[in-house]
Amino acid sequence: MKNLDVTGALASLALHSDALEEDWRDQALCAQTDAESFFPEKGGSSRAAKKICQSCDVREQCLQAALDNDERFGIWGGLSERERRGLKHRSLELTEATAPGPTPRPAAPAAVQPPEGTAA
Ligand code: SF4
Repeated sequence: MKNLDVTGALASLALHSDALEEDWRDQALCAQTDAESFFPEKGGSSRAAKKICQSCDVREQCLQAALDNDERFGIWGGLSERERRGLKHRSLELTEATAPGPTPRPAAPAAVQPPEGTAA
């Protein structure tokens, strides 16, 4: 019987999953454009950046990464920080609204009544 190198396999898997996780960044359209437009000054326009995001193949992964990491600044996945916060808030509300409630307690047993004609 062949021994499995579990530690080596896990290390390899961890490296592989890190590589997969980072793969989407290689396809980021913003990396090929003016990165500054993705971090507009306060009150500045984010329209140009959002337009680029609309054509980006990794928009979903980008947005998910921003949500997972609580990115506070910039345009990620076509959304501003404020829009991402709103999305997260709505998602949380939806999760809470559709989550099963507490397990109902069993009904209390009916009070045992003494048979008729007996004293209570
Ligand atoms: S979705 Fe936008 S911010 Fe995200 S990688 Fe693509 S171009 Fe960049």
